[in-house]
Amino acid sequence: MSSGVLAAVKVAPSRTELRELPMPDVPDDAGLLEVRAAGICGVDVHDYPRPLDRGPLIMGHENVGRVAKLGPIAAKRWGLREGDRIALEGYQVCGHCPSCLSGYFGFCPQEGDAELDYPPGSLPALQPSRNGGFSQYLYLRPNLRFHRVPEHVPDEHAALAIPFGNGWQWAYLEGNAGPGKTVLVQGPGQQGLGCVVAARESGAETIIVAGLHRDVHRLEVAAALGADHTIDVERDDLQERVLELTGGQGVDLALDVAAGSAATVCPAISLLKPHGTLVVIPARAPIDGFPLEQVSRKSLSIKGVRGHCYEAVERALRTIASGKYRLDLVANYRLGLSQVDEAIRYTAGQGPEDAIHVSIDPWK
Ligand SMILES: [Zn+2]
Ligand SMILES: [Zn+2]
Repeated sequence: MSSGVLAAVKVAPSRTELRELPMPDVPDDAGLLEVRAAGICGVDVHDYPRPLDRGPLIMGHENVGRVAKLGPIAAKRWGLREGDRIALEGYQVCGHCPSCLSGYFGFCPQEGDAELDYPPGSLPALQPSRNGGFSQYLYLRPNLRFHRVPEHVPDEHAALAIPFGNGWQWAYLEGNAGPGKTVLVQGPGQQGLGCVVAARESGAETIIVAGLHRDVHRLEVAAALGADHTIDVERDDLQERVLELTGGQGVDLALDVAAGSAATVCPAISLLKPHGTLVVIPARAPIDGFPLEQVSRKSLSIKGVRGHCYEAVERALRTIASGKYRLDLVANYRLGLSQVDEAIRYTAGQGPEDAIHVSIDPWK
């Protein structure tokens, strides 16, 4: 192991610099990960332009790699050995509250608190943090939550564990996708495609994916992953087309992975069958004229979703490892540490048209 660690450090809003940092000491109850892929998601796009309240930091919270160093207590506690491949949960948690024990780490009352434990200006890749994946090595904190990754899975496919975990959470665990069900997915990004795969694996009868005209490539990928029908909502009328495809019946489950806005939520509610379910990602604003009367008339359920539980990511990794899906079509851009800026722009839709899931390979 060399003495320096290369990392992409965010030094100002929307600005990253390559820096060499010292290799940290590893306490008995912690470890060090050799990062092989750090996936980028919408959270990075949102956070990148924000001011740095606490000094420079290393982003990257969807991390996959190989255990490079393990303290003896960590080795025993985690059941890991040096060389093992793992995918990390980005959550920073207490480990003993009801949410942690149920695997819903995102609801731990202490989630993220440890982020505040280290001094401004310190570099979280080498200290306890949820972030830090845009670096050759990442500190594995004592309260680590992780998933094992089989040897044969390519790093960039394993980096889909979190977006596809969200797909399993939303389509299956929350939405009850299953045999005989007709599922509508609005928004064919990395998580929407995760919903397609989870719905397919769950045995859904018909999967329909809707997107904008600029999503035309993503809609093709959705079809390659098992969607039965795709709809460009700027070319075809969503309502008419879904009713046509479902013999006038509508859908059992609508997944709004697009915006949680009136443009997606209102048509989804009108397309749901009686007793149908709408699963919706965090909405950005209240919806004027929300069709509550339809919700009661049709006895609909609406479920807000945020993140995933442990089980969802385990299911996602099994799907990823199965080799059944063309994941090369999803995880299709891999950039180096000096290209973090581009990678985030690609994820924001300001890069090549076909970019869907972008990850950083710190050794590239
Ligand atoms: Zn993320
Ligand atoms: Zn907790």
